[in-house]
This record gives sequence, structure tokens and C-alpha cells, in this order.
Amino acid sequence: VRFADFGLSPEILRALSDQGYVHPTPIQAAAIPMVLEGRDVMGAAQTGTGKTAGFSLPIIQLLLAHANASASPARHPVRALILTPTRELADQVADNVKAYSKYTPLRSIVVFGGVDMAPQTTALRGGIEIVIATPGRLLDHVQQKTINLSQVQMLVMDEADRMLDMGFLPDLQRIINLLPKDRQSLMFSATFSTEIKKLANTFLRNPLTIEV
Ligand code: AMP
Repeated sequence: VRFADFGLSPEILRALSDQGYVHPTPIQAAAIPMVLEGRDVMGAAQTGTGKTAGFSLPIIQLLLAHANASASPARHPVRALILTPTRELADQVADNVKAYSKYTPLRSIVVFGGVDMAPQTTALRGGIEIVIATPGRLLDHVQQKTINLSQVQMLVMDEADRMLDMGFLPDLQRIINLLPKDRQSLMFSATFSTEIKKLANTFLRNPLTIEV
């Protein structure tokens, strides 16, 4: 299997070629077609398996496809939300998303705590389709009305087990309640505990499970 076989747009394939990627990793080969079909996915995968591209590439593809049909291209509501437990992971995921979407008009921003909110707020004013965030700071922005989550079509919970370990469950529940019910949700976790399965049953709709 090659990336070119997934029906990804030429802009995405060009970015992948810049990265030097030719063949998808096993989690990418499994996840990309499922996400492109619109399915919810529960992925059991460690860091290093290529899970970031596994969710980022189909999300970028789906956003591009929907953007073409959009009646108001001037507006840029947040359409994809990627939640991570730490600022380091948020930064890494954001770097990946930026690299894969660099030839597209899609805009992304990373939002995490421990730094001044003002530059994030200014960047958000420009209109952003993809937000990569840690839960607490995201809720700060929601409270200050600098982020509106009412148009989110795709949600990713990355390293969900670490988010639970860090006590983010109440924040996750608060965030989910702000999202449209009619959305696509993906969850990735290194472990597959009872708590994680419970979380998946609460937030995902008839999910397909991938284990690598
Ligand atoms: P991740 O598990 O998403 O953190 O990815 C682990 C590392 O593998 C990152 O440095 C990626 O840039 C790299 N990577 C992801 N997918 C591929 C691929 N299909 N081919 C080569 N390298 C990849």
C-alpha cells in the first residue's frame, strides 16, 4: 500500500513527499480509510507508530472536501479539534498538522496553558479550521469567548489514557458537551483499560477498533 492509494488530495501527497513518506505504517493503513469513510475510531497505539499522521491526514482530506462545498469560504469556524494531555504533545501534533497541510488553505493553531493567552487570542481572530489544544486552556478560551466549538465536525482525543491519568475527565466531559452531537470522533490510547473502554462508549458512536 502507498499513500497515493488512499485518494488523498495532491496537496497532501506533495506534503508527504516532502516528508519523505512513501508507505503508510500499519495504523495509518488501517485508520486512514476508516476515517475517510466517516467512521468513529478507537485506536490502541503507542507513540512512534505513526498515529499522528493516521488521524491528521484523513482529517485534512475531509476538511478540504467539505470546504469545496462550503457556501461561505470567507468564514473559518473551528471544524476539527485535537485534544492532547500535554503542551509538548500538542506542539508535536501541531507541527505535524502544519507540515501535512502546508499546501492547503487550512489553518491550524496550537493552544496550551502556562503561556500568555493574548497571542493565542489574536491568532484565533483570523479564523482557524484546526485547533490542537490541552483541555484546560481550551476551556479558558471558550469561557473568554475567543474559541467557539459549535461548528466542530471532528474530534480527536490523543493519548486518552494519559488524559484520564492526569485528571482531565471532567474537562473532557465539559468540552464534549460544547460540541455538536453530529460529529466524527476518534480516540487514541496506548492502553485499553476498562476506563478507556468506558470513555470510548460514552464519546464514540459505533466505533471501529484498531490495535497495532
Ligand atoms: P507518531 O507515532 O505519530 O508520533 O510518529 C512517529 C514518527 O514516525 C514521527 O517522527 C513521524 O514523522 C514518523 N512517521 C509517521 N508516519 C510515517 C511514515 N508513513 N513513513 C515514515 N515515517 C513516518
